[in-house]
Amino acid sequence: MTSIAQLLAQSGLPLLEARMLLERVIGKTRAWLIAHADETAGADTEQAFASMAERRRQGEPIAYILGVREFYGLEFGVTRAVLIPRPETELLVELALARIPANAALRVLDLGTGSGAIAVTLAKLRPQARVTAVDIDYAALVLARANAKRHGVSVRFFCGDWFGALLGETFDLIVSNPPYVSSADPHLASGDVRFEPQRALLGGADGLDCIRAIVAKAGAHLDPGACLLFEHGYDQSEACCALLEAQGYAEVQSWPDLAGIPRVSGGRIAAMT
Ligand code: GLN
Repeated sequence: MTSIAQLLAQSGLPLLEARMLLERVIGKTRAWLIAHADETAGADTEQAFASMAERRRQGEPIAYILGVREFYGLEFGVTRAVLIPRPETELLVELALARIPANAALRVLDLGTGSGAIAVTLAKLRPQARVTAVDIDYAALVLARANAKRHGVSVRFFCGDWFGALLGETFDLIVSNPPYVSSADPHLASGDVRFEPQRALLGGADGLDCIRAIVAKAGAHLDPGACLLFEHGYDQSEACCALLEAQGYAEVQSWPDLAGIPRVSGGRIAAMT
């Protein structure tokens, strides 16, 4: 007979990860697991935990095994159709929130929404905003819609290639966490990214293909004075600012994430004089 403590210890996983999986199997909190460490785990528990632990040992991200990940204090459903929301993307949300007054019905667009983490968070925290989200992947949109429902917000979802489904529409703010990893990046071969959809990660030889497309096309969908903000790789801020300037954006700037790495760049479409 195996106790809860033994199950955790024998899993071959870091204790924190083992606990996260066992919490899910038993449906109890971490405090409960600690308080009941000496209790015997049932055969069903043992079996369910063993299969989850094996997936984790094979490298599958915890977020995919559990089917959820927290982002900006909200829990989002995640599947292998989408990128797992990352803490650095909270910077993009913060910069967007600072540009969306609480009482204004601003039109906000999230390009390549994936799980919908950005669009749903903005809609939740700015209920007056009119949030639109697009993704090229239908399975991602199904999940994003479920996440909008989970948080009781209304977001318009479209399936399309960047602005392909938004002919003639304009916005007050466009945000995006596009694919921006170079296809030659060695970090694609290790850790969680191995399990994530390549379409959500890869931005061509220099990683900038999608950013180039977005920066080139966004101007036609931004009203004068409106902003474009997007996330990018640790070494791409100079190239991104150059792209924005070449397209005539004003107030072009990059902002550092919590690790001090320039992570988001953006600019404003000059107001007509
Ligand atoms: N930050 C992610 C990574 O390097 C990539 C996210 C993205 O391409 N949008 O793994």
